[in-house]
Amino acid sequence: MRRIGLLAMLCLAATALAAQPKFVNEEYDLQKVADGVYSFIAPESDSGVVQSNCTVIIGEDAALVADTGQFPSLAERMVADIKKLTTKPVRYIVNTHWHFDHVWGNGVFRSAYPGAAIISTEFTRELVEDQGPRVLSTQPAENKRQTAEYRRFVADGKYPSGHAVSDESKRSLTRLADTLEHVEAEFPLTVHTPPTVGFEKELTVNLGKREVKVMWLGRANTGGDAILWVLDAKLLVAGDTVVYPSPFATGSYMSEWPVVLQKMMDMNAITIIPGHGPVMHDASYLKTLVELFQALTSQVKKAVSQGLSLEDTRKNVTLPEFKDRFSSFARTELWRNEGFGTFLQAAVDRAYQEATGKLKPESEE
Ligand SMILES: [Zn+2]
Repeated sequence: MRRIGLLAMLCLAATALAAQPKFVNEEYDLQKVADGVYSFIAPESDSGVVQSNCTVIIGEDAALVADTGQFPSLAERMVADIKKLTTKPVRYIVNTHWHFDHVWGNGVFRSAYPGAAIISTEFTRELVEDQGPRVLSTQPAENKRQTAEYRRFVADGKYPSGHAVSDESKRSLTRLADTLEHVEAEFPLTVHTPPTVGFEKELTVNLGKREVKVMWLGRANTGGDAILWVLDAKLLVAGDTVVYPSPFATGSYMSEWPVVLQKMMDMNAITIIPGHGPVMHDASYLKTLVELFQALTSQVKKAVSQGLSLEDTRKNVTLPEFKDRFSSFARTELWRNEGFGTFLQAAVDRAYQEATGKLKPESEE
């Protein structure tokens, strides 16, 4: 009997090992999204550490890569995959915005394809140039500090506030700490490589019998979001103007964002590649985002006109019907439980700043 018990335990252990999920810097799903267009789709993060989607667009003469992701080791894998897909050189790299989960792979692509131009809006170019060295130099220590802090919460069973850490939170904090520890190896590989070409409104890149428009349609997730439009495929690369299963809003422009989304919807894309999340084939999610942002902005404006403090505005603007909708999109426990709340807090803060005429520079958020 003991033997069977022991065997059963070994089997269980083996199953648990096989089911051990990969870390965010270990996987993407390479998908053909149109003729000569391939996306590296990052899975929904189960830790909170994210990787951006990246896309390669191949013409007769050259290729263009939209976003390079956060992890140099993954960028190396993307380069190897691109070399299997085409012998054409990557002559252009586009950073859709300055957040480093879209930028830190630049160095790898530039050394694989020397002389490739790195294109972004001028706003993004300046922010990457200014913020990159600071973030790169502080991130390793910050990463260690966070890892230790989360492990301490789990070990103590309570937060510094005295609140108990639930079993579910223990699981998610442990997964986050494990992930932060795992991605440490990426820091020494990350080379600050800012965009080399900044544009204001629009720029057309000819890849050889294929044109790609890179456009700034207004402020949205950041002040300098670039979207890409592949004319012949009616394919839109949205960057983080579109993030699934719930949007990011840190440093965002809540009242202007819907205007940008409407312009994108008017383009009647056949395929939309969001900054995070699966490939989309219609604009229904964009429409949902517009409704969410408009509802949020108008409720925050109303709260401000009634003289409510930020704290009271946060308590009042909870958008439960949207919370249910966005939570239902999530696949992971983490996103289902925390995705919308994380968005809401940042979005209400930004909408409040806007409504009170005190919008902070987004890099200070
Ligand atoms: Zn992102």
